Amino acid sequence: ESTRELLLSRIRDVRDYPKPGVLFKDITPLLADPAAFAALTDTLAELCVRHGATKVVGLEARGFILAAPVAVRAGLGFVPVRKAGKLPGATLSQAYALEYGTAEIEIHAEDLSADDRIMVIDDVLATGGTAEASLELIRRAGAEVAGVAVLMELGFLPGRARLEKGLRGAPLEVL
Ligand code: 5GP
Repeated sequence: ESTRELLLSRIRDVRDYPKPGVLFKDITPLLADPAAFAALTDTLAELCVRHGATKVVGLEARGFILAAPVAVRAGLGFVPVRKAGKLPGATLSQAYALEYGTAEIEIHAEDLSADDRIMVIDDVLATGGTAEASLELIRRAGAEVAGVAVLMELGFLPGRARLEKGLRGAPLEVL
């Protein structure tokens, strides 16, 4: 069994969550399996090193769970991107469009410097809006983008296309 097959086998499809008609990809079975969680952590850490990252940004909330052990494994710093209003210090904010309405995410600007190359980690790439906004925050904070790494993408949504421009040639890694 390849690592990828192991990881994908531990993702559970939950019908009609969080609302009717949505098929939710639930990563909690993967997190509960120590071999799978370790394999995911190692794989993502290796990507961070390969792409020359100096820090790992995790996107709230499931991105935190994946990115924190990856940062430790790769010997890199961890920086959270949070939903608006959750970070206590001086923040940069970025609003982005949702299907209905807008959302806003924030970062502590002082956690990034001009010398940093950032790998963004999240569990699922859906519309790509959150990841795209995180790239804006990273660049506005003065750092460089090393890439975006996700466990899986929802192929029926245009997340990859939406992200492409913001990546400016940096890689989108999907396991
Ligand atoms: P996007 O901005 O790409 O539309 O999606 C943003 C967030 O929604 C991501 O942080 C991702 O964690 C979450 N998300 C959307 N759909 C799913 C899903 O089916 N499963 C999981 N685990 N997360 C999802």
